[in-house]
Amino acid sequence: MDICARSRPPFLAGAKRVTAGALAAAVLVTLTATTGVSQAAARSDPRPAPSDGLSVALFGASEVSLPGASLAVLSGAPEAALLDPVLSAPGDTGSVARPRPRVDCRHVKCVALTFDDGPGRYTDTLLRHLAKYHAHATFFVVGSNVVVYPRVLRRTVAAGHEIGNHTWSHPVLTRLSAAGVRSQLVRTDREVKAAGGVVPQLVRPPYGAFNKAVRRQIARPLVLWNVDTLDWRYRNSATVARRALRAVRPGSIILFHDIHRTTVGAIPHVLKSLAKRGYRFVTVSELFGGHVPHVAFGAAPPKLL
Ligand SMILES: [Zn+2]
Repeated sequence: MDICARSRPPFLAGAKRVTAGALAAAVLVTLTATTGVSQAAARSDPRPAPSDGLSVALFGASEVSLPGASLAVLSGAPEAALLDPVLSAPGDTGSVARPRPRVDCRHVKCVALTFDDGPGRYTDTLLRHLAKYHAHATFFVVGSNVVVYPRVLRRTVAAGHEIGNHTWSHPVLTRLSAAGVRSQLVRTDREVKAAGGVVPQLVRPPYGAFNKAVRRQIARPLVLWNVDTLDWRYRNSATVARRALRAVRPGSIILFHDIHRTTVGAIPHVLKSLAKRGYRFVTVSELFGGHVPHVAFGAAPPKLL
């Protein structure tokens, strides 16, 4: 229940522009992913590798169609992440959360801290760290954990954080039937509503794995990331903090997992350092001014600073 990020190769971390090399590497990743032997999977992930037309989340935004696969490559602007509307789910109501942004991320340095796989036993500690810096974050929760920690979920909502849907049991969605995908989301929605009184308006697919079939079942934005701390691998607070601080840029979406004590232990330093650099800590919806693209990675908004 703790690994979201392995579909993107670490050697591409920090890339900011599409290059022929990066694209070739990305294609390679897609091809290896479709054969079920992704690099990260080979190294440390005991879970089965996603396969069968997997979308590999890299960075930023536009999408390249490849035979049997949907491949995301980076670009500078989140707007470019707006994807082919044909791929929206039938009957898409467009019910995306559009809260009034507390800050305008086109004009100030914003970063979206995201925490996956909870709620868990360390989430309350994390909430205290965030409150100290008036930071708001986005929690992509797993429904089966919401059942275990409903009061933590409620406190997370009450503190003003955004809740996203990270499925019920953290499966590889590309391996499920259409009904299976919907069930994963609906069950989680129900538990979040019962515990916190809100319905998640954003979805993060486990491992960042999705394809056209998955997207057809999900009308809500899929939120990926462009800074990966690999905190599930580096169970060391200093390392996790360093990885976040080294890669962050205005507009970044940083991936953490609040089920790890070491990750929560890294957050005070991350908050202190980024606050000193002038960053504001916003939810994903706020980062995009309430208009989250259909597939969002996080990148520097245009004309920023
Ligand atoms: Zn996850």
